[in-house]
Amino acid sequence: MTAFQLQCAACKIPLEGPDDPEPEDVLRCPRCGVEDRTDNVVAEVREYAKDRMAERVNTMLRDATRGKKFLDVVENPRPQRVYRFMIDLDLDG
Ligand SMILES: [Zn+2]
Repeated sequence: MTAFQLQCAACKIPLEGPDDPEPEDVLRCPRCGVEDRTDNVVAEVREYAKDRMAERVNTMLRDATRGKKFLDVVENPRPQRVYRFMIDLDLDG
């Protein structure tokens, strides 16, 4: 049983692949056909999760400091990376 589902970022549906994929096994989106090796997918999803967490922290800081003149949150805008793969993170739960 997996704790989370690897998904296609464009279609937001689970990727298809072996039940217990090896790093070199290919995972594929059944709708748009985007595919990559499991190790590449996992690496990308890890980056995605890090980005999402950073966004979440930024939002929390912004909310926490809203209207307070003595605190300026310095944000570092980064170019939005486009991910092919994602996981369904439940950050708000
Ligand atoms: Zn897709």
